[in-house]
Amino acid sequence: MTTEKVIIVTGGSGLVGKAIEWVIENDNGRFGRKDGEKWIFLTKATRAIFEKYKPTHVIHLAALVGGLFKNLKYKLDFLRDNLLINDNVLHTAHEYKVEKVVSCLSTCVFPDKTTYPIDETMIHNGPPHHSNFGYAYAKRLIDTQNKAYFDQFGHRFTSVIPTNVFGPHDNYDLQDSHVIPGLIHKCYLAKKNGTPFVVAGTGKPLRQFIYSRDLAKLFIWVLREYDQIDPIILSVGEKDEVSIKDVADTIVKYLGFGGSYSFDTTKADGQFKKTASNAKLLSYLPDFEFTQFDVAIQESVNWFLENYDKARTGNPT
Ligand code: GDP
Repeated sequence: MTTEKVIIVTGGSGLVGKAIEWVIENDNGRFGRKDGEKWIFLTKATRAIFEKYKPTHVIHLAALVGGLFKNLKYKLDFLRDNLLINDNVLHTAHEYKVEKVVSCLSTCVFPDKTTYPIDETMIHNGPPHHSNFGYAYAKRLIDTQNKAYFDQFGHRFTSVIPTNVFGPHDNYDLQDSHVIPGLIHKCYLAKKNGTPFVVAGTGKPLRQFIYSRDLAKLFIWVLREYDQIDPIILSVGEKDEVSIKDVADTIVKYLGFGGSYSFDTTKADGQFKKTASNAKLLSYLPDFEFTQFDVAIQESVNWFLENYDKARTGNPT
């Protein structure tokens, strides 16, 4: 008889947590619900919750997150809150003898000055970009802490590095969100109010975007099958990198926006690119099928339109 796995997901109400919950409930193939697994989606990670569920596995998503403009404003908060959240979750997992923890990093952990494509071995090679160093250092230290838990105690605590994530249940705040939800919301308001649609920056920076439901499948696979302590990049390929202008064009298309559309070049561009290699991922899952960018944007726009009342939209004026 196999013992039941009890999996808790910290940050269970966020973009990635909701996507994992969706895949567990809706995927009829290898990523969906399995016998012998109990999944619990949390909005807070506390000792009381570990005490109550006695988890054997943890997916650690809880974090203070935000787009470029929020990162520029709150460097200390991003550093401190994330250090404290991570230490709390990892050390509680240690104390409760959790078998495996999968934590979520981000490609902004990588050095700003680097060669491309970036791979998993480069995390600690040089300082991250100045725009989000608070978040980047806090997240890098998860990898350091995982290695220390392994060396000192033999724990299987690992991490994944997704590229830019988007999808249903995103944060659609106008100032503090990431680019895709921010632009969906702005374009929606421009269409509704007959006002111009203004995209921050030059539109030239390049990003690899991963649909949250694809990422969710990969998280579930990492939890069940990936056994290294070293992180793994979860991303579409280098050829699927798109510009911010491509993103804005696709949103304009699916929202059916026909009004004035421009770029505000007085606003920051952030990092020009952070092209990451998914070769390690493909060495494990060569046949993994990513959702086409167009399709994923269309689904995200539709989700936003259908859920405007309950979406996290900040305070639109
Ligand atoms: P990151 O820079 O990869 O961490 O992530 P973001 O999702 O914040 O993307 C930032 C890029 O999108 C920058 O080049 C911004 O100039 C551009 N951008 C354009 N409009 C927006 C917007 O409304 N919000 C955000 N966050 N970025 C925007």
